[in-house]
Amino acid sequence: MRALRLLEWKSEARLEEVDEPRPGPGQVVVKIGGAGACHSDLHLMDEFEAGVVPWNPPFTLGHENAGWVHALGDGVTGLEVGQPVAVYGPWGCGVCPRCRLGIDPYCENPAAAPVPGGGGGLGLDGGMAEYELVPDARHVVPLPDGLDPVQAAPLTDAGLTPYHAIRRSWSKLPPGSFAVVIGVGGLGHVGVQILKATTAAQVIAVDSRADALRLAEGCGADHTVSAGDGAAEEIRGITGGRGADVVLDFVGVDPTLRLGAAVARTVGDLTVVGIGGGTLPVSYFSVPYEVSIQTTYWGSRPELVEVLDLAARGLVKPKVTTFPLAEANTAYQRLRDGTLEGRAVIVP
Ligand code: NAD
Ligand code: ZN
Ligand code: ZN
Repeated sequence: MRALRLLEWKSEARLEEVDEPRPGPGQVVVKIGGAGACHSDLHLMDEFEAGVVPWNPPFTLGHENAGWVHALGDGVTGLEVGQPVAVYGPWGCGVCPRCRLGIDPYCENPAAAPVPGGGGGLGLDGGMAEYELVPDARHVVPLPDGLDPVQAAPLTDAGLTPYHAIRRSWSKLPPGSFAVVIGVGGLGHVGVQILKATTAAQVIAVDSRADALRLAEGCGADHTVSAGDGAAEEIRGITGGRGADVVLDFVGVDPTLRLGAAVARTVGDLTVVGIGGGTLPVSYFSVPYEVSIQTTYWGSRPELVEVLDLAARGLVKPKVTTFPLAEANTAYQRLRDGTLEGRAVIVP
């Protein structure tokens, strides 16, 4: 079968012929219907080098996957060949306290995981191929009626990651509150929809691209703000001078972290999701009182079920542009250039 493989750090992925995977005991092979192209893959191809993460190339890219059950290993029950499924992407050890709750990204025994701190497309072979081997059936989540694999694929990361970040801040988003979304790309545009579907907050979307701000409006954002010098003042104005109860930074570079800290309200949350490599100095007087600052990594398996439910009911709908596998590198180049709207999904 064909697969889009990262062969070494700081290189473009290459389409190669590889053997079709076969499931061992307890494993599942999924026929890929859609594999999302995440900005994290650009960090992998363009920036990462040995030692940044605890795994290395070669592996097949694609950590946002959905499709149909293709083959079941010995002992797998509760799934049927041909059934539409999403693949839960972070693969932990399965038995530590975090994994038992379905919070695999925070696995506490990564040495016992299939790959420490990763999954398919992140150290192991992922879904930018005709088939993906999923090492444990617990990561295969049936799709609810009304959701097809092309729509479902981005929900496993571009949906799940903002959902997790937003869900942990729900108690800070009552009527009268404001949430700021910085970066309205693959994750951010779904984040705006999740905020509107699950909270009463007014949503302020920030991006440097006019197209992204238009997409944010289409996703239900109440206000849009162009990134840059005047952004903090504009956001403070929209919030009546109080600041935003929750800021979600889907970029994570110095200017966006600075903006987040400048517009956060006292007792607010500033959540850093983007892996832009920026830093934010935190000292007693440099951020508003009782602001909590945190990073988040992906989301839990129960949360993926909740995101799929929101999408199946039409409350969340990723804006998807599809590309055949042979044009996956074109999709990544457009992501680099900032000429994509929403998420690119590769359809092998
Ligand atoms: P994307 O390229 O689709 O979207 C990024 C958006 O940010 C674009 O719309 C871009 O115009 C905007 N942007 C860039 N610089 C900006 C700035 N200075 N100010 C305002 N807007 C700016 O990327 P994506 O796939 O949505 O991923 C976003 C980030 O999240 C990446 O760093 C990615 O690696 C990371 N990520 C993190 C997790 C996690 O679990 N923490 C999961 C997936 C992705
Ligand atoms: Zn990702
Ligand atoms: Zn674990």
